Amino acid sequence: MDITDLTWNPWHGCHRCSEGCLNCYAYFLDKRYGRDTNQICRNKSNFDYPIKKDKNGKYKLPSDSFVRVCMTSDFFLEETDEWRKEAWNIIRQRQDVTFSLLTKRAHRIKENLPDDWGDGWDNVQFAVSAENQKRVDERIPYILDISAKHRWISIKPFIGEVDLEKYLATGKIETVLAGGENYMGSRPLHYEWVKKLHDQCEKYNVQLIFGQTGNVFVKDGVEYKIRSRTDQMVQAVKSGLNYPHIDIDKRVKEICEIREKMKEAKGQKSGCN
Ligand code: SF4
Repeated sequence: MDITDLTWNPWHGCHRCSEGCLNCYAYFLDKRYGRDTNQICRNKSNFDYPIKKDKNGKYKLPSDSFVRVCMTSDFFLEETDEWRKEAWNIIRQRQDVTFSLLTKRAHRIKENLPDDWGDGWDNVQFAVSAENQKRVDERIPYILDISAKHRWISIKPFIGEVDLEKYLATGKIETVLAGGENYMGSRPLHYEWVKKLHDQCEKYNVQLIFGQTGNVFVKDGVEYKIRSRTDQMVQAVKSGLNYPHIDIDKRVKEICEIREKMKEAKGQKSGCN
């Protein structure tokens, strides 16, 4: 997953279901626009975004895209059971695109798979989100239990120390994502928690992507307030906790260049050096 990844939100809205939802991005956005996040609504104009075509009959969404699904909702929300059947049908038609299905409702995956799921589809990754040990132990067993070609764990927002050893030891987890919390009232992420994940991922040779520190990062007993998203990403890279290890200077340069382009597109200047 990367900052250049595309998103597809076939519906919007959600209900808070655990402590990781406290500073939810969807609620943050809706507060700004005076919307009720608990009202689940279907995306009227872009529900079928992955299969939309241009005037030449070609898909607008390029082949080999990586698409993050339901970034302002949950793919396995109860109210969307009927819409999800249509969404599966769209995903089925784009075997050339990878869909990352993020959920905190891992207990609902098995009963909501399509009839022709079989051993899993190559173009679908399940990304189960768990913010602390309680939620890890509650949710991860469900994705180990289903048939799937790709399973990810997302420890975001990372608000409590976690031990993933017994889950990584199964050999069924492909990647672990880690990242701190943002918005008002962010809870701190501790360097030692990420280091522990790094060491466990290294032991079982599982990829660890430490994407950003969040607003509040604690290292050696010092609490750092890191407001800019670019700085959060840069500091995460500089921590050296990604696994396999990456070329830090090259990656920092890439992040800054991408952010510079995005800010230029919005008519702003980046603070990146
Ligand atoms: S499950 Fe995800 S989208 Fe839904 S309230 Fe929680 S954090 Fe927000």
